[in-house]
Amino acid sequence: MKRSQVDVLIIGAGPAGLAAAIELKKCGIKEVRVVEREKNAGGVPRHSYHPGYGLRDLKRFLSGPAYAQYYVSQAKKAGVEISTSTTATDWADKQTIKLTSPNGLEQVGAKAIILATGARERGRSARVIAGKRPAGIYTTGSLQQASYLEDLYIGKSAVIVGAEHVSFSAVMTLKHAGVKTVAMICDKQKHQTVIFVPTIMKLLYRFKFLSATKIIEIQGDVRVTGVKIEKNGKESIIKADTIIFTGDWIPDHELARRAGFAIDESYKSPIINNDGQIPNTSIYTVGNLILPIKGADKCAIDARKVARKIAKKIK
Ligand SMILES: Cc1cc2nc3c(=O)[nH]c(=O)nc-3n(C[C@H](O)[C@H](O)[C@H](O)COP(=O)(O)OP(=O)(O)OC[C@H]3O[C@@H](n4cnc5c(N)ncnc54)[C@H](O)[C@@H]3O)c2cc1C
Repeated sequence: MKRSQVDVLIIGAGPAGLAAAIELKKCGIKEVRVVEREKNAGGVPRHSYHPGYGLRDLKRFLSGPAYAQYYVSQAKKAGVEISTSTTATDWADKQTIKLTSPNGLEQVGAKAIILATGARERGRSARVIAGKRPAGIYTTGSLQQASYLEDLYIGKSAVIVGAEHVSFSAVMTLKHAGVKTVAMICDKQKHQTVIFVPTIMKLLYRFKFLSATKIIEIQGDVRVTGVKIEKNGKESIIKADTIIFTGDWIPDHELARRAGFAIDESYKSPIINNDGQIPNTSIYTVGNLILPIKGADKCAIDARKVARKIAKKIK
């Protein structure tokens, strides 16, 4: 098995991991390596084709792919080593990570390790909803990958479950894929995004918005045919061939759990101190691994701060 050593190893090449890597290089840290399990670096923005990225960190208004490309090219320019198709699977010890890639197994030791593995939306299985397992069910992330990256057929009409910021981005992705959003439902009394977003989106895309509404059954055997919902104690059916589960985030905390680090009970993120550090270790966290969910720009800005603290300690 190959063994290597770097100054800082970063797990995850999303905006947070890449921003931290660039900042470490700026601070004079020599060997900074980022590993990414996907074929391409850039994280979620790679497949998030709508504009809305880069406002606070780059003072620009970019699409997700343009934003991801910016961070990837800046990291390469700064001399960061990026290893794609490389998954961090476990710990050899508290300063060494086990990796697997098409090149085989590897163990990498580092003076500091940054976990930048992000968060994902809870899918259908994690939400425990009655019904069979028909085709036509996505999260916003998997919808974007299927539509923008793989150009797959999605469906004709969709119900979106959830009313967070990301839920409205699902409406735009559905439109791009030629799918009509029939309704957006959420079990809370109100949406959880910027005040004007739902009004503008409802006007532009003309869908029904149902708050305080629960989805109680997915209908359909082979393909989704609709959802049974409950509002104010009354049940009804919305016909659709596609369901998008949005938001309701869970951090990608597998490595933190494997190391036995304390996990906070409400968000399920690892517990950290003010420096983003897991107490009494040389392991740090950046980005949406620490919930609540944040925009990519905030993740990048915060990651730079953590990187500066790490650089100071290493020096
Ligand atoms: C549909 C959607 C729309 C959004 N729209 C906006 C928007 O308009 N504006 C905005 O600012 N934000 C938006 N966001 C949020 C933004 O994408 C996130 O804030 C940002 O991507 C978080 O960055 P991150 O680096 O923490 O995580 P991520 O971008 O999730 O990156 C984490 C990376 O870690 C990798 N990884 C995980 N585990 C491992 C492992 N074990 N080994 C190797 N690699 C691993 C993953 O493959 C991934 O590439 C949106 C999010 C979604 C889902």
